[in-house]
Amino acid sequence: MEKRNVYLDYSATTPLKDEVLEAMMPYLKEKYGNPSSIYSKGIENKEAIKTSRLQISKLINSEKDEIYFTGSGSESDNWAIFGTASSLRCKHIITSNIEHHAVLNSLEHLESQGYEVTYLKVNEQGLINPDDLEKAIKDDTILVTIMMANNEIGTIQPIKKLARIAHDKGVLFHCDAVQALGNIPIDVNKLGVDMMSFSAHKLYGPKGIGALFIKDGVEIDNLIYGGAQENGKRAGTENVPSIVGFGKASALALSGLTEHIAHCLELRNYFADRLFEDVFDTHVNGTMLDRLPGNLNISFDFIEGEAILMMLDYMGISVSTGSACSSSSGSPSHVLSAIGVPESRTYGTIRFSIGDFTTKEDIDYVIDAIKDITKKLKELSPFK
Ligand SMILES: *Cc1c(COP(=O)(O)O)cnc(C)c1O
Repeated sequence: MEKRNVYLDYSATTPLKDEVLEAMMPYLKEKYGNPSSIYSKGIENKEAIKTSRLQISKLINSEKDEIYFTGSGSESDNWAIFGTASSLRCKHIITSNIEHHAVLNSLEHLESQGYEVTYLKVNEQGLINPDDLEKAIKDDTILVTIMMANNEIGTIQPIKKLARIAHDKGVLFHCDAVQALGNIPIDVNKLGVDMMSFSAHKLYGPKGIGALFIKDGVEIDNLIYGGAQENGKRAGTENVPSIVGFGKASALALSGLTEHIAHCLELRNYFADRLFEDVFDTHVNGTMLDRLPGNLNISFDFIEGEAILMMLDYMGISVSTGSACSSSSGSPSHVLSAIGVPESRTYGTIRFSIGDFTTKEDIDYVIDAIKDITKKLKELSPFK
């Protein structure tokens, strides 16, 4: 088998698209003015930021002034949570037990400060039961924060229903949509969310640039104080090249969304079919219905995920066990535990995530590699 490089970790990050890099280049070189300066060299940068805000707002059907740039998806999550917690003095927040660590660790910090947090359980498909949310809301609940699509198993939550339940009781609703943006349609008005987090590097944009949608009229405290950037809500000279890249990536995502979804679904389903046909003792985690189009999370019986990952890497294939953020910690994934995957099996789990540059030949190569590797590893396994 001739070696090829295959990247199947689009949920961890995506390559920058050529058009995005091209849009960014002038702002890394000749257009270096400070957007707050009032001469032409500054104003052209202020205009570029405005254009990007408009491009992102079109992708989520918001007003452009409801988009606030941040330094990452993690910062957006932190801002939504801490900004709400400090502006509303009540003490109870509701989330799920499969959130990203940017949400879970922020809430853990609030717990250490005396806040109370309820962690809603998900079913074996990774879905939250809306009735559970309704029952969990109390008089002093200030915020519900639930992700749109999970970064490990790809499960898509019924956000519209959940947001309505929160609103009926006068509670703010924040949604981490970092995995969803550019992968499924998002309409913040239809969904009825108050805040939503995004990150450019998950949709073929640059790393280190995020955004928080804050619905007009929703007031939260600043996370960062200083100058008047971002309408006085997030200080710091803007990362103009990255903001421009984020805007371009959003425009491309909007015009190519139908095609992107069809491409990912076709290859994902082809991958799954071939895997079940050719490789024994595999299990899909999550659901095949409400799932991100490019996500496949597979447990292999009797073998270690890390071992498969290393051998795939040796063959030029990039995948991950669990999420990029927890894979270095060595502890079993909280998401897989939450959906009831037995601990022994969580260690044999690989997340494959497909994107725009994935081809059928890539999938064939990966399937053949997995066939080889699982056979070899099983021969070595003491459990078989
Ligand atoms: C990647 C990711 C984040 C963090 O975004 P960064 O820009 O990498 O900080 C947050 N939430 C989810 C669901 C993610 O997948």
